[in-house]
Amino acid sequence: MAEETKGGCCCPGEAEKMAPATEKRLGWNEYFMSVAHLISRRATCTRGHIGAVIVRENSILSTGYNGAPSGLPHCNDSNCRIYRSIHPDGTVEENCVNAIHAEINAIAQAAKHGVSIKDSDIYITASPCIHCLKVLINVGIKTIYYDKPYKIEHIADLLRLSGIKLVQINMQDYQKG
Ligand SMILES: [Zn+2]
Ligand SMILES: [Zn+2]
Repeated sequence: MAEETKGGCCCPGEAEKMAPATEKRLGWNEYFMSVAHLISRRATCTRGHIGAVIVRENSILSTGYNGAPSGLPHCNDSNCRIYRSIHPDGTVEENCVNAIHAEINAIAQAAKHGVSIKDSDIYITASPCIHCLKVLINVGIKTIYYDKPYKIEHIADLLRLSGIKLVQINMQDYQKG
C-alpha cells in the first residue's frame, strides 16, 4: 500500500519547496516563453538550441525544437553539416543542413495530428529566420513572441509587408523582476 503523504501535497517531501503565497504568479507570456525554453533543451543541433510553442486562447496546441527528422541521426551524434548562403544584402549565413527549425517542427506536429493552428500565436526562444517566417505567415500565425533576436534585420521587410506581429519577451527582464 502506498505511503501516505504529509502536509496535503501529492508529492512526498515537496510541500516545503512549494512557492510561498506571496510569490508572484507567472503571467501568460512568461509562462509560454518558459515552456519554449524548456522544450529547447530537447534540441539536438549543436548550432543552437531553440524551442517553439504554438498557442491559442492560452492553450498549447503544438511544440517543436530544432533537430534532424524523426529516426535520422542527430547532429549531436553525427555532427552538424554546415552550408553557406549569401543573403541579398551580402551577408554570409551558415546553417545546418540536417536540422529542421523548431517552429517548422511545431507546425509539422500540428499537421501530423490534424490540429488547426490558424489564428494562433507562437512563442520561440529566438526570432524566426526568413524561411520560417514565410511559413508562419502562411499557416495563419497572428503574433510571434521571441526572446533573443536572431538575424532580425533580415526579416524587417517581410514583417512590414505581411502585417504579422513580432513581439520580444525578454526573459532576462522577467528574471530581474
Ligand atoms: Zn546541426
Ligand atoms: Zn528558421
